[in-house]
Amino acid sequence: MLDFRSLSLDELKDYVTAVGEKEFRARQIFSWIHKGAETFEEMTDLPHALREKLKKDGYLNNMEVAAKQRSKSDGTVKYLMALKDGNLIECVLMRYAYGNSLCISTQVGCNFGCRFCASTIGGKKRDLTAGEMLGQLLKVQRDVNCKINHVVLMGIGEPLDNFENVLKFLRIVNHPAGVNLGMRRITLSTCGLVPEIKRLADLNLQITLAVSLHAPNDRIRRQIMPVARKYGLEELLDACRYYISKTNRRITFEYALIDGVNDADRHAAELAQKLKGMLCHINLIPVNKISGRNYVKASRDRIESFKNILIASGIETTVRRELGTDIDAACGQLRSSHLWRLAPLHEP
Ligand code: SAH
Repeated sequence: MLDFRSLSLDELKDYVTAVGEKEFRARQIFSWIHKGAETFEEMTDLPHALREKLKKDGYLNNMEVAAKQRSKSDGTVKYLMALKDGNLIECVLMRYAYGNSLCISTQVGCNFGCRFCASTIGGKKRDLTAGEMLGQLLKVQRDVNCKINHVVLMGIGEPLDNFENVLKFLRIVNHPAGVNLGMRRITLSTCGLVPEIKRLADLNLQITLAVSLHAPNDRIRRQIMPVARKYGLEELLDACRYYISKTNRRITFEYALIDGVNDADRHAAELAQKLKGMLCHINLIPVNKISGRNYVKASRDRIESFKNILIASGIETTVRRELGTDIDAACGQLRSSHLWRLAPLHEP
């Protein structure tokens, strides 16, 4: 059975010709899928016989909205989606002056174990398919009846640990005959998988790469991010420099400020020194509290001071606006609060 939403236009062309149809039918099907069709019946300009073939040979991997929370303060909408196999993922719609941005998941759960992240509790269940990534965007567009202008791969999962499917999703969502989302409107966030960052660099896709740094040195990074035991900071920054040299794109470094862990002035100075001269931008995030962990967000004064040290060192720095704080919008929180009802969480 074919998962039609995961197919590229070329793969759809191969399919239609293999079943004895004209090649242009592939473009019609692709276009229907990208308009958000959830059944073959909706594809009204296809002959009945072709719709029957599609039904016989494959399926549209639809998901259902299992829960939805809307922030009263800023309009952020958080979705808990139930996949066909019952697994749960999240995506978050954020409304900015410059358009609608959707944060999507790339895996069910995550294996990387960042200590402050709710998505990783319980580990990875499975990778998402390209169609399930696209499906999140199409479902939300259908639900709110508006167009998504930006996509950030910052929901549940580690995108570079699901490289092939993520790459396929990027190419499909970027295709002019479909959603046609520009690569420059897509941000991919990684906890820092060095070989995959280099691989991505060689593809020169023009997406924005965001790297979750969260520490100015290996000692602190290893405490909060187990992946740092595999790839040291210098190696990671070398991979980032390689990415910049190949793509000419500015990297965003994400830095979640955790009270008493990584938020001192000396940490800011150390970070500034490490990043000096790099084409980058730092996004400071007041850490979101998650259940079962004791991390507390840095104070406002701390954040200001941290930011000012970086700026004074010539590094462009912003503090992420805290959207949806009244709805637990940090990734993994809604899913884990649902899983909590099924099985108690535990400290790994
Ligand atoms: N695995 C990828 C993408 C998913 S997480 C990555 O690690 O980048 C998206 C971003 O949210 C990452 O920067 C992550 O470190 C951050 N994040 C996770 N939990 C958080 C929390 N409780 N508070 C603030 N940021 C958090």
